[in-house]
Amino acid sequence: FIFLVLAFFFISLLLSLVVGIEEIFKVWSNPFSNTSLFIAITAISLIFYFIFAFFREQVCTNVCPYGRMQSVLLVDDSIVVHYDFLRGEKRASIKDRNKLIKTGEATEDEFGDCIDCGQCVAVCPTGIDIRNGTQLECINCTACMDACDDVMVKMHKPTGLIRYSSEKSIKEGVPFKLPGRAKAYIGVLFVILALFVYMASNRVAVEGIILRTPGMTYQYPQGDSTHILNVYNYKLINKTNTDLKNVEIKLKGFKDADLKVIPEKIDVIPEFGRATGSMILTIPVSEMKGYKTPVQFEIYSEGKLVHSPKTNFLGPH
Ligand code: SF4
Ligand code: SF4
Repeated sequence: FIFLVLAFFFISLLLSLVVGIEEIFKVWSNPFSNTSLFIAITAISLIFYFIFAFFREQVCTNVCPYGRMQSVLLVDDSIVVHYDFLRGEKRASIKDRNKLIKTGEATEDEFGDCIDCGQCVAVCPTGIDIRNGTQLECINCTACMDACDDVMVKMHKPTGLIRYSSEKSIKEGVPFKLPGRAKAYIGVLFVILALFVYMASNRVAVEGIILRTPGMTYQYPQGDSTHILNVYNYKLINKTNTDLKNVEIKLKGFKDADLKVIPEKIDVIPEFGRATGSMILTIPVSEMKGYKTPVQFEIYSEGKLVHSPKTNFLGPH
C-alpha cells in the first residue's frame, strides 16, 4: 500500500511539471474535472507501482540503459564502486583460515582482508558479486560498500575494502588522483553552470518580438517627403505566472517621431499568454542615421518598464 501511495505521489509531482500543480490538486479533489489527466496519473502510477513492488532490480538489469552506457564509457580512470583485490585477496572465511593455519597449509600473512562473509553479495539489489570486478549490472548504489565497512569495523580492520575508486588506482595500489580529462570536464561544467546562472538572472519577464511587416520596407506619408514610416508587427509574450495589466509600447530616444500602436491599448496579457498587433512608426528624415536606423522600444506594464526590445528602421539608401 505504501508503494502505491508513493507511486501516486511521485507521478503527480512529475506530471505537475507539465500541467501545473493547481491542475493536479483539482484532479485529486475531483477526478472528473479532468478525466484524461486522472486516467494518465492512475495508469502511470500503476506501472510505477508494478516496478516498485514486483519488477524491481530487473529494471536496472533489463530495461534501464544506464548500465549499457556506463560499460561503453568506462575507462581505467573511471570512478566506480570497486573491490580492492590487492588488499582483499586471498580471501577465506575465518573458519577456513584457522583450519589452514592450524594444519600448516597456510600462514596468516597469505590471507587478505576479505573474510568471504558474503555480506556484499547479500545486500546487492542486482545480486552480483562486486569482487568479480566491475559489472554491467552494478548500479553504483554503494550498498556493498556500507555492508563491507560494517564487517571491517567488526574485524578491527580499516574500512574501504570496497570503495569508490578507479581500476587503475586499485591495480597500482596508489591513491586516486583526478585525471586531466576529469578536470577538463569539471571546468566545462562550471562554464555551463555560470552560463545558466547568467541566463537565469537575465531572463526577462516579458519578451517582445518586433519585426517589420513582411514584404514592406519604408514609405513616405502621403504628400510628405520630410518623414518616413515603417510598419511593424509585434508579439509580446508574458513569461510570468501573473497577468500583465495596462501594457503600453513607447519609442525611446527620438524627438519628433510618431508611434501608432494597433490596438491602441493592451488591457491585459494573461499569465503565460501573448498579445499581438501592429505599429506604424514615423520618423523625420533629419533624425535618421543612414538607410538603417537602430530603434529601441520600451514596454511598460502599469507604468513599470518590463522590456526594451530593439529593431531597425529602414529608409532610402
Ligand atoms: S554498488 Fe550496489 S549494485 Fe553495485 S555491486 Fe555494490 S551493491 Fe551491487
Ligand atoms: S562484505 Fe567485505 S569481507 Fe565480506 S565478502 Fe564482501 S568484500 Fe569480503
